[in-house]
Amino acid sequence: MPETKVKKTEDFNEWYNEIVELADLCDKRYPIKGMNVWRPYGWTLMSHIDQLIRDEMKKTNHQEVYFPLLIPESSFKKEEEHIEGFGSEVYWITHAGVNKLEEKWLLRPTSETAMYPIFSLWIRSHADLPLKTYQIVNTFRYETKQTRAFIRVREIHFFEAHTCHVNFEDAEKQIKEDKEIAKRLFDKLCLPFIFGKRPEWDKFAGADYTISIDVLMPSFRTLQLGSIHQYRDNFSKPYDISYEAEGGKHEFCHQTTYGMSERILGALIGIHGDNKGLVMPPEVAPTQVVIIPIIFKGKEKQVLSACETLYENLIKEGLRVQVDNRNITPGNKYYTWELKGVPIRVEIGPKDVEKNEIVVVRRDTSQKKSISNKLIVKTINEELKSIAKDLYDKAKKILNDNQHRVKTVEEAKKLKGIVELPWCGKENCALEIENILDGKTLGEPIDDKNCSHPCPICGDKSITWMRYAKTY
Ligand code: ZN
Repeated sequence: MPETKVKKTEDFNEWYNEIVELADLCDKRYPIKGMNVWRPYGWTLMSHIDQLIRDEMKKTNHQEVYFPLLIPESSFKKEEEHIEGFGSEVYWITHAGVNKLEEKWLLRPTSETAMYPIFSLWIRSHADLPLKTYQIVNTFRYETKQTRAFIRVREIHFFEAHTCHVNFEDAEKQIKEDKEIAKRLFDKLCLPFIFGKRPEWDKFAGADYTISIDVLMPSFRTLQLGSIHQYRDNFSKPYDISYEAEGGKHEFCHQTTYGMSERILGALIGIHGDNKGLVMPPEVAPTQVVIIPIIFKGKEKQVLSACETLYENLIKEGLRVQVDNRNITPGNKYYTWELKGVPIRVEIGPKDVEKNEIVVVRRDTSQKKSISNKLIVKTINEELKSIAKDLYDKAKKILNDNQHRVKTVEEAKKLKGIVELPWCGKENCALEIENILDGKTLGEPIDDKNCSHPCPICGDKSITWMRYAKTY
């Protein structure tokens, strides 16, 4: 069976660049760098991921909104740290037709500054709180580093939740809920991840603190899939988002945000794929089962009718199924569907029809077995569950095997993946470790962070473990 030109195990980054186009996810030939065309297979896959996010938002009483893409300069400039953080990444609109605009507009890099002036009109009393909203839209950032499909792009497919609360404690409850959402969501995507509290110098511009969601890619670099931010009243003060508390006093809201992007798709491709192509977690696979008729002269009718019957039965079960009737060899069909990562392939030939059987092949293990017609639905559902579990377990083992807690920089230097070292709390010590390891500070663990060893740089008492890794 043909495989990708570059092997995942030999050169992950090249393999990734090849597979996103071979598997029809995107087209990189659009004339603006970092703005790729989503092809139907990639867009369907992304919309299944979005649907899981929408389901989680509904379950937790968030409401979907849609704010405009363009933001006036004056709205953007109200929160100083925020502008400082995003200023160099913004695309500006200066003209409308032949006329120079009186006030410049920008393409949203994120939507705080579009939403908050309006939130200040929506929120009047404590009865309007909590306000829990989200949107899934495109955002724009002028990326100067090398772009990579779904991982580093200039037009971003972005999920952003924005919430307003009566006080800090209520906003903290939201952050707890956000972490639970992440656990449920990434479980369905078979993606084990770690939460980390970002260091002060690398938190979101304007946030009080930032919790990141990171996964480990097969290149031993981490990829940040999402972040959860506690804003306190840092934005509500400049944007005047306040409410009348009981007793008539005016209080500023406390706010949180939650951001994720198509990087989730990048992680799915990278973590689960292999030398034959994508391996899709059943929950989001655009096609979960593909049926391949094995045609022999004179037996076409029986075989095709068995395929149709099976198709109907599986569709009734709510599965996403396709019959591949194309006039090409079965081998070529296997190649297509393996490349696209369809979790289960079913083969039906004349002998199987005679024996009332089908052949089921798993994409992740290539395991093949014959099953009787009576057990088809049950077996396929069990196999899909088992594929999801195995994908998660395999990725979890790789994450565990490449996450190390050590006491000295010398030990850390010999290791791949994520390392945790004692940290005294001083920015300079962490930056020096970044230099030595040629990596980035990921952040401190959110639990199990007590450390009794001295800082490996200055020898002072440590306040926590700190994580470092090479990152995307
Ligand atoms: Zn130190």
